[in-house]
Amino acid sequence: MNYIAPLLIFIGTCILLLSVKPALLICKKDQRIGWRIVAALIIFFITLYIIYGSLLIANSFNILELLISPILLFGSLYVLLMTNLSLKSINKYHQAALSERYNALHDALTGLKNRQFMLNSMKAKIQADQSFALMLIDLDNFKHINDAFGHLAGDALLKAIATRMQAHTVNGTDLIRLGGDEFAVILPYQQYREINSCIKQLQSSIKKEFLVRGTVVHVQMSIGIACYPTQSSSITELIKCADLAMYEAKERRSSFCYYSSSYQQSTKQHLQLIDQIRNALDNDEFSLHYQPIFSLGSRAVYSVEALLRWQQADGSFISPSLFIPAAEKAGLISAITRQVINKALGQLASWQERELYTRLQINLSAHDLQGNEIIDYLSDQLELFNIDPQLIIIEITESAMMTDIQSAKTAIKALHKLGVTLCVDDFGAGFTSFTMLSDLPIRQIKIDRQYVLEMDSENNNFEIISSIAFLANRIKAHIVIEGIENEFQLNKLKSLDNVLAQGHYLSEPLCVETLENYLLKVEHQLAR
Ligand code: C2E
Ligand code: MG
Ligand code: MG
Repeated sequence: MNYIAPLLIFIGTCILLLSVKPALLICKKDQRIGWRIVAALIIFFITLYIIYGSLLIANSFNILELLISPILLFGSLYVLLMTNLSLKSINKYHQAALSERYNALHDALTGLKNRQFMLNSMKAKIQADQSFALMLIDLDNFKHINDAFGHLAGDALLKAIATRMQAHTVNGTDLIRLGGDEFAVILPYQQYREINSCIKQLQSSIKKEFLVRGTVVHVQMSIGIACYPTQSSSITELIKCADLAMYEAKERRSSFCYYSSSYQQSTKQHLQLIDQIRNALDNDEFSLHYQPIFSLGSRAVYSVEALLRWQQADGSFISPSLFIPAAEKAGLISAITRQVINKALGQLASWQERELYTRLQINLSAHDLQGNEIIDYLSDQLELFNIDPQLIIIEITESAMMTDIQSAKTAIKALHKLGVTLCVDDFGAGFTSFTMLSDLPIRQIKIDRQYVLEMDSENNNFEIISSIAFLANRIKAHIVIEGIENEFQLNKLKSLDNVLAQGHYLSEPLCVETLENYLLKVEHQLAR
C-alpha cells in the first residue's frame, strides 16, 4: 500500500509534463496573458507534485494524504485534457482565419490574387515609392465562348488561361483576376523594357490554342498600361488611366497600349457627345433623309433607305457613323431606333396616302437585336400606320450580326416571322460565311462599299462582286451594290443580272421634299 500514493503522484507529474507542450504551443499562437499564467501554473504544479511525491516517499503518510493523491492525479488529467482541447480549438480557429484571409485576397475560380490584393499591393508600393506598371487585361470576345459553349466551359477556359499566364510571369509580379474575363498585372520595374518583356510573355502565354469541349479556340487579349509614378500617384487615377489605355487598345485593335493624356481628352469629348445625343433625342433633333435604291435593269426606284441626319445649329450635319457608335456605347441606340422606325413608317404611310408607292429600308444596330423590344415596337408601329410588312426591308450590318451571333439569329427569325424582308448590310467587310446566310431567311445582300470604291482594272474586285451576286442568286437573295460614284463603276456592274444599285452617281440621300419631287418625276413603281 505504501507505494500507491507516490505512484499516483508520479503518474500525475508525468501527465502534467505532457501538458507543458500544448500549453507552450497555445502561448505561441495566442498572445493573451491568461495562457501564460496557465503555462506558468502547470510548471509550478509540476514542481509541487515532485516535492509532494518526494515527501511521501521519505515519510510515512496518513489516510488523508492517501486520499489527496488520486485527486491530484485527476487534476493533472484535467489539465492535460484542457490544454489539448484548447490547442485543437485554437488551431481550428487559426486555420479558419488563415483561409478567410486567403479567400479575401484570392479569386475563388482561378486561385489568382483578387482586386483587394491589387489595391493593397499598389498601396504598399506607393508607400515604399517603388516604380511599378499596372496592366489591365481584357480577353477579346470572350462572351462568344460563353455563348457558344456555356458558362462552365467558359470557366474552365479562364482557369486554363490563368494557369498559363501564371507560368509565364516572373517572380515578384502580381497576377490578378478582377472578375469575368478581366485580369491585371502589377509589375515592379526599373526600365521600360521590363514592361515590354512582360507584355510579350503574357501574349506568348496564350498564343498556343486552347481546347474547349473538343474545339480549338484561339484567345487574344487587349492590355492597357499605366505607370507609377509617371502617370499618377493615386491608385484610383492609375486604374482609370490603365482602363482608358485598355479601351484605346480595343478601339485600335492593337494588342496593348500605354496610357497617354490625350485619351482623357477624347473621353471628355465622348461624354460631351453623349450628352448632346440625349438632348437631341429630347428635342427631336434627328431627322431622316432617304436614298433611292434602283433596279439596275429597269432603272426604276426599287426602294428608299432611311438614313439618320442630325443637323447642328450652324446647318452642318454630324455623321451617323460618328454618333451611332457613341449612342450604342451609352445605351441610347434603342431610343434612336424607335424614333427612326416611327418617323420612317409615318413617312411611308403619308406617301401611300398620296399614291407615292415604294419600299422602305431601315437600318438596325447590333444592340437592337438583343431582346424583343425593338421587334415588338416595329410590329406595333406597322399596325399603327397600317403598313404591309412586305414593303419593309430591315438592314443589319454583317458586323452587327457577328457581335452576338445567337441574338442576331433569334432576332432575324423573329423579324422574318413579322413578314419584313432582311438584308445584310456592308457584306464582305467581316467574315460572315454564305453557309451561315443560307441557314437564315436573308433576302437581300448589300456588298460593302469598299469593293466598288476600289474597283478598277488592276484588282479583281469586280470578280468578287460577281461571285457574291452568283452565290446570292443561289440562296434566292437580291444583291445590292452600294457606293456607285461614277459611270465607269455603273457600266461595269450593268453586266450583272438581277442587281440593285445605290450610290451618289444615281442619287444622293435626299430630304423628304426633294425625294417626293424626284419620285414624281422618275419611275417608282414597286419594281420586282
Ligand atoms: P449604310 O447603312 O451602309 O448606309 C450607306 C451610307 O453610304 C450612307 O452614309 C450613305 O450616305 C453613304 N453613301 C451612299 N452612296 C454613297 C456613295 O456613292 N459614295 C459614298 N462615299 N457614300 C455613299 P451615312 O448616311 O453617313 O450613314 C453611314 C452609316 O450610318 C450607315 O451606313 C449606317 O450603318 C449608319 N446609319 C445611318 N442611318 C442609320 C439608322 O437610322 N440606324 C442605324 N442603326 N444606323 C444608321
Ligand atoms: Mg444601310
Ligand atoms: Mg452599307
